[in-house]
Amino acid sequence: MPLLGIRVLGDPVLREETVLVDAITPALQALIDDMFETMHAARGVGLAAPQVGRAERVAVIEVDGQPHVLINPEIIEREGTLKWEEGCLSIPEIYGDVTRSKRVVVRAMNRDGHTFEIEGTELLGVCMQHEIDHLHGKLFIDHLSFLKRQKVMALWDAEKDQYPNFVRDISKEVHDDDDPAHDDERL
Ligand SMILES: [Zn+2]
Repeated sequence: MPLLGIRVLGDPVLREETVLVDAITPALQALIDDMFETMHAARGVGLAAPQVGRAERVAVIEVDGQPHVLINPEIIEREGTLKWEEGCLSIPEIYGDVTRSKRVVVRAMNRDGHTFEIEGTELLGVCMQHEIDHLHGKLFIDHLSFLKRQKVMALWDAEKDQYPNFVRDISKEVHDDDDPAHDDERL
């Protein structure tokens, strides 16, 4: 299974609406498997199809050792608010506090096409909201205030040149000096 190139901020694919999945095919399942492998290699806890340049409405998540596949996910309940420091595999090294719903219930299909519902709070809830945003062309920086977003974009200006053509090649990265404090925030 190949590692997929991760698209970074600036690639228009991250701003595109995804397309509902209408059939579970071996090709879709292979994409899901590759997304898990890529997410693990990037030490992330969530990855959505647009982040690997794809239009399928699919995301993968792994929180507390529990993998979840979300096909055509929808938030059907939300409650309360919480603030969480988020990062994104598509905006490496950039972090910011985002206000999210404290608890969400998501309805989706799994890798076999079975519909299920999953409740999430804390990291799982934040991660599901972050990945579902990706599936509708939205990024966590869109939730920041104008001033914070300007700060973040200035930081990103110094980072982005490492990613020619907006592609991040995980196979060439060395993560030894990453800050482990951010291990749960790469979504
Ligand atoms: Zn993200």
